[in-house]
Order: sequence, then structure tokens, then C-alpha cells
Amino acid sequence: MEQKIKELRKRAGDAIKNSASNLKELDEVRVKFLGKKGELTGLLRGMSQLSAEERPKIGKIVNEARAEIEQLIAEKNSQLKAAELQKKLASEKIDVTLPGRKVHDGHLHPLTLTLNRVKEIFMSMGYSVEEGPEVETDYYNFEALNLPKDHPARDMQDSFYITEEILLRTQTSPVQARTMERHKNSEPIRIIAPGRVYRRDDYDASHSPMFTQVEGLVIDKGISFADLKGTLEDFSKKIFGEKTKIRLRPSFFPFTEPSAEVDVSCVMCHGEGCKVCQGTGWLEILGAGMVHPDVLKMSGYDPEKVSGFAFGMGIERIAMLSYGLDDMRLLYDNDVRFLKQF
Ligand SMILES: [Zn+2]
Repeated sequence: MEQKIKELRKRAGDAIKNSASNLKELDEVRVKFLGKKGELTGLLRGMSQLSAEERPKIGKIVNEARAEIEQLIAEKNSQLKAAELQKKLASEKIDVTLPGRKVHDGHLHPLTLTLNRVKEIFMSMGYSVEEGPEVETDYYNFEALNLPKDHPARDMQDSFYITEEILLRTQTSPVQARTMERHKNSEPIRIIAPGRVYRRDDYDASHSPMFTQVEGLVIDKGISFADLKGTLEDFSKKIFGEKTKIRLRPSFFPFTEPSAEVDVSCVMCHGEGCKVCQGTGWLEILGAGMVHPDVLKMSGYDPEKVSGFAFGMGIERIAMLSYGLDDMRLLYDNDVRFLKQF
């Protein structure tokens, strides 16, 4: 009997040490030796055949064997558990040395950048920024600017009408009319009015039915054409560079008299003549003039006491010249490859 127990202890020890390579196999070993139908339990059952002297002695050896096997199983159990944890940790390991995914910052659109620059320049000259509605009445868009319903100049800017009296503004000039009306002849005005305007037009490299305009208006005592020219010269140098020259050509606008088209010396060739300026050395950038006395009167000012000038420019044109773009549609297409260059 003693021999049997000794041999069982050895087999159980070997099985635990060598053949139980995971928790499931270890449990099978436990059942094989210690389970209800296990080998050790079988030995205990056979004790009834032993003599009264032998029983306690053998009982002690069996209990020792059980304790030893249980101990070995417990040790192996914790070894296997630790190994499984290690394996799991290894398989779920995060490689913190991988480069991170970059979050791309957004930035302002080239049109916004240009508009901001124009605003900055005029604000530094003491102008304030006025805004107005893009959906406008016929009165503010045309009539208050000396363009009655039958005026031929209305054809120049065929509009998007919502009703006969309401339309998408074709220029930012209605903001000027509204501002003059609000000031009611009482105080000088020095404003710029930036914003989107709408005209029925083609969509190609140099036309769009929607574009961005900035108009300026100054009204005060003793404002002369020289003030207008000086202001535009100063602005042109600030936006296109110190060497920029300007040139005024006579023109016609219904709300100014006299009126002029304003050119700047070509930003590409500086007056030498190139493809951009079509060999002339000059680029047209804006229209301007002295505010028409009828426009002053309509807004409640006395043309005998005050005078003023107004000018207007397309921000797309300024942006295209500043950045050297040859197609206006680039500014509207929202192609990230283009936009991220600014
Ligand atoms: Zn040129």
C-alpha cells in the first residue's frame, strides 16, 4: 500500500509538471488523481481492508500525498495563469512608437485673406466697415443711386429678381445709400462696404454670377478729386507694393460725376508689358468718381455744402493679381490642393 501511494505521488507530480500545459489539462490531471473517481480516492476507499494498526499510518500518508498533490496543482495553476496573462499582454501590446495621425489645421480662404487685407488698409486710414442685406429692394439697389427704372445703365448689370421690387443686390452701393440716409446730412461719412454681389453672368476664367465687392464712400466738407486720387494711390501701394503707380481714365457711372477707371502698373512686369497686362503695362482694378449731386440730394445732403467720392473694386480681381492666379474659378472650387497653398 505504501509503495502504491509513493508511486501515485510520483506519477501525479510528473503529470502536473510535464503534461499539464494549460489550465484545462491541469484540471484533467486534478480529476484523474483527486476527483471522486480519481486514483487517490480509490486508494482511500481500499483502506477499509486494512488492519486497525495500519489504518491511521496509511491514512496519514494518503493525506500527506493529497496535500502535496493539491499544493503542486495550486503552484502550477498560478504559473499557468501568470503565463496566460503574459501571453495576453504580449498580444495586446500597443506600439507607442508608431507616429501619430496629424490633425490638419484649417485656415482662412485666399478671398477672405485678401478682403481682410483691404479692410485693414482702409481701417488704418480711418474708415469704418458697414454691411447691408444681400437681398435688396429695387429702390436702394438702383433708384437711390441715380438709376431710375428706364435708365440704360441697368442693362449693364442684369440682375436676379425675386419680385419686381426685390432682387439680389448687383453691387454693394445700396449700403452706401442706406448709410447716407441714416446719417441724414448731419455728419461726415468715411466707410467701406464689403460683401457678395450677384449679376447674371457667365461662369468662366474671369466671370462669375456671384463675386465679392468692396466699395468706399467719403462725404465731408471740401472733399476733392485730389483726395480720391491720393487715397487710391496710397491703397494701391499698400496692397501691391511701394513701387506701384496708378492711372485714371475718364469713364461713366450713373452715381458719380466725374467718373474714372483706375489702373495700377502691372504687378507682374511693373509696367514693361507682359501677358497678364496684355502688353500695356497697366491693369484695371477699380472704378471711382465724385459722388453725383443728385445722389447726395436724394440722401438728404446739400451738394452746395458737402462733396464726396466713391470707389468700388472686385476682391476676386485683387486676389488674382496678388497671388498670380489665372482663373477666377479656382477661388470657388474649394479644391484643397489649391487652398492649402495659402
Ligand atoms: Zn504686365
